[in-house]
Amino acid sequence: MTEPSSIEVIDPATNETVTTVALASAEETDAAVARARAAQPAWSARPPGERAALLRAFAAEIDTHLDELAELEVRNAGHPITQARAEAAQARDVLAYFAGAPERNSGKQIPTPGGWSVTFAEPLGVVGVIVPWNFPMPILTWGAAPALAAGNTVVVKPAELTPLTAVRLGELARAAGLPEGVLQVVPGTGAVAGERLVRHPDVAKIAFTGSTSVGKRIMAACAEDMKRVTLELGGKSANIVFADADLERAAAAAPYGVFDNAGQDCCARSRLLVQRSVFDRFMELMEPAVAGVAVGDPWNTGTEMGPLISAAHRDRVASYVPDGAPVAMRGSVPDGPGFWFPPTVLAPVSPADPAVTDEIFGPVVAVLPFDTEEEAVRIANTTDTGLSGSIWTRDVGRALRVSRGVAAGNLSVNSHSAVRHWTPFGGVKQSGIGRELGPDALDAFTETKTVFVADDT
Ligand code: NAP
Repeated sequence: MTEPSSIEVIDPATNETVTTVALASAEETDAAVARARAAQPAWSARPPGERAALLRAFAAEIDTHLDELAELEVRNAGHPITQARAEAAQARDVLAYFAGAPERNSGKQIPTPGGWSVTFAEPLGVVGVIVPWNFPMPILTWGAAPALAAGNTVVVKPAELTPLTAVRLGELARAAGLPEGVLQVVPGTGAVAGERLVRHPDVAKIAFTGSTSVGKRIMAACAEDMKRVTLELGGKSANIVFADADLERAAAAAPYGVFDNAGQDCCARSRLLVQRSVFDRFMELMEPAVAGVAVGDPWNTGTEMGPLISAAHRDRVASYVPDGAPVAMRGSVPDGPGFWFPPTVLAPVSPADPAVTDEIFGPVVAVLPFDTEEEAVRIANTTDTGLSGSIWTRDVGRALRVSRGVAAGNLSVNSHSAVRHWTPFGGVKQSGIGRELGPDALDAFTETKTVFVADDT
């Protein structure tokens, strides 16, 4: 089968063509890797303060173009404008945060008889960053910013559905003064550009964010030449509401724990576990909150939820809500074109229902009752993944016990906190390997080298 040489970018809110983007061939991907390899020694040899200043300049360039970037994401991904602005701001803040890293990327001095042992945090070389379509701007910077700070050069492959902000970020990096070859964006398909990056002998590491199934393939391919790899994958996170919680708050917040970005969020709390003694009361309280989610025109600053990314994805999401599905609540969607799907609450749902077991990646939540704390933890852990989740209770001891008991990389108590760039983020089990963001992120983009110097020379 011949691969397409370009892709039409479709506005998911209107089903209209926004533009056409050329897709990189394997040869073009190789050329980008060659440029990255050529640029890397000079980039890592630059004084740390200079690399820091260039990353700060890149952050400032994003800030100057914040509205433009947000508007591109509205057109390309259908994200509501208020959220798209926050995503552009997060990209800026991630770069500003890691601009502080080059000057702090120090090693250790370790007492050793007969001399000194010192460690150096060496860059890896060329890093490939493979990005999904759900949060194109933030996820690009989660990989690229610490990689650049550590002295690596970076080739980014955005998702083929959402290349526009990635391409613009690549241009802004050059405008900020990053030398040629230091950060390149290669729009292309996973099958061509993605595969080439993963298998290229001059790529030292892949930072991949995407589905668990593709993540497994990438991990296996990286094993061929021992490429370093971090994987940020899917989830089926639980939102656990205990009877002693502030039920009004928990019910008002529950829709936003799963319907943000139309449920196209790896951290979506798409299983809602409610203690049986307050089940009916909780459902009553949640009904107006679900009806109140503002779904509609992404250009309206009050809109909270936009369309799904594509017609094919909408069909997939809809397959989890067949005729006769136990729909307990359903929000609204606008009439007309676009890939809309309403916020949907399913209850009661059998634990074996695919809506309970699969990552739907759409605005669908399954509600399950539980009786005891132990049962809540057991149900929460009945999944191969473990990315995120929430616990609602006024009992501090229970909050801690359940937080320790639920197998997930990131949990929130009495909130559905989003990703913060200054705290570590990542999953357990099949939600991934490694951690991104936070103070230790450079460890994933460096190798420790130990040098012993004898003192009798
Ligand atoms: P996906 O299908 O796995 O694709 C992710 C990226 O990998 C895309 O750029 C894709 O290119 C590329 N790709 C596909 N096949 C490849 C291959 N054989 N070799 C190299 N690259 C390949 O995921 P998605 O549908 O875009 O994103 C949704 C998934 O991402 C969900 O499962 C979600 O939970 C997960 N996610 C996880 C996190 C996290 O931090 N844990 C964050 C966001 C999303 P194409 O676009 O051409 O297919």
